[in-house]
Amino acid sequence: AVLDAIEAGENLNAFISVRERDAVLAEARAVDEARQNGAELGALAGVPVAVKDNLCVKGGQTTAASRMLAEFEAPYSATVVERLQDAGAILVGKTNLDEFAMGSSNENSFFGPALNPHDPERVPGGSSGGSAVAVAANQCVAALGSDTGGSIRQPASHCGVVGVKPTYGRVSRYGLIAFASSLDQVGPLTRSVDDAARLLEVICGFDPRDATSARRDVPKFTDAVGRGVEGLKLGVPKEYFASEVGVDDEVGALVRAAIDDLEAQGAELVEVSLPHTEYAVATYYLIATAEASSNLARYDGARYGFRAEGEDLVEMYENSRSEGFGDEVKRRIMLGTYVLSAGYYDQYYGKAQQVRTLIRQDFDDAFDKVDAIVAPTAPTPAFALGDKSENPLQMYLEDIFTISCNLAGLPGMSVPCGATAAGLPVGLQVLAPAFDEETMLAIGAVVE
Ligand code: GLN
Repeated sequence: AVLDAIEAGENLNAFISVRERDAVLAEARAVDEARQNGAELGALAGVPVAVKDNLCVKGGQTTAASRMLAEFEAPYSATVVERLQDAGAILVGKTNLDEFAMGSSNENSFFGPALNPHDPERVPGGSSGGSAVAVAANQCVAALGSDTGGSIRQPASHCGVVGVKPTYGRVSRYGLIAFASSLDQVGPLTRSVDDAARLLEVICGFDPRDATSARRDVPKFTDAVGRGVEGLKLGVPKEYFASEVGVDDEVGALVRAAIDDLEAQGAELVEVSLPHTEYAVATYYLIATAEASSNLARYDGARYGFRAEGEDLVEMYENSRSEGFGDEVKRRIMLGTYVLSAGYYDQYYGKAQQVRTLIRQDFDDAFDKVDAIVAPTAPTPAFALGDKSENPLQMYLEDIFTISCNLAGLPGMSVPCGATAAGLPVGLQVLAPAFDEETMLAIGAVVE
């Protein structure tokens, strides 16, 4: 059925590559046979999944939606991909994204944008747009995305699916093509909170191959689903509802109604303040670009993927990077190189690191008073293709509610909480203290 849905919804451009039908069906039949023979099956046996195309899958094409890697074949699989496969999941394909996961609309893909299934003239959000579309359009049961500043939660919100960014360190980044290493985290996009919990049980856990991986036991996340919100204190950050941030009226009303419903279900609402919110976008775009400029230095035409001609080595580097990267990636490399350069480092990068600490302290203070925070995921519903692509600053403001979570290393999720009059889905965001995904999932399950 998912292979048929992929074919029928080809225009949505959710996938960069789809596996051979016969190979997928053979795996499905093998699971059926094993089941009939009474063999012990993995937690995700036979479940068709897709992964964002910045996750390495051995032997297959792994492009990061860049011309630079359009022909690149990964020599190994990401830890999360191995864990899915070990649990019996069947990979159906690799999903579309903004080039190197840089973007909020999927319009920065070398392979063209994915389209929102609720209105194909609109973006699905980004950068994990293809994963959100594939789940929303039944082209897989679950997908993996990556979230550096909102790239799982924002497209989940725009496409009406559940998206979870786990605590930094909870999920291995080994085999995830690096964008901003201190912010990147892999997580699931699914049609229900229970499905997300099942995926998390498989992909979370210590990995010696990722130096930032946390040595933490993996809870039985599915037990948290259905726990309810009775007695929980939920923080409503006043800065996220302030008129200056420009939350769309319908989005504000739907999110407010979902929060009131949580109160009706037994939660206590507490107004909290995250006073450094106004600096979050600036801080993020200094740190993320700095790390990106360093991570992307490896694409020189000699070691990976695309290579252009040149008279000498330096010209070959220049031509390969000029032709191999798209505009947004180049913009970020230039910004990042600038903020890291001698003479500017303290003023920009050093300063941003200090503000990052203040943002984390804001959350520590809030979590002294409340169990979790509830807020909008994005300030607007899905916008029209082309609407913001000419204005990078306007595009960066899409991330206003999602990036603080990455800067602070916290878990965050988006859960559908209704739709606008035009039928566009809206997500409620839940943020929790580090390593308390269970409380977050319990709240999300009440909202969906
Ligand atoms: N939209 C943000 C950016 O462009 C976040 C992307 C992400 O989370 N990968 O950087």
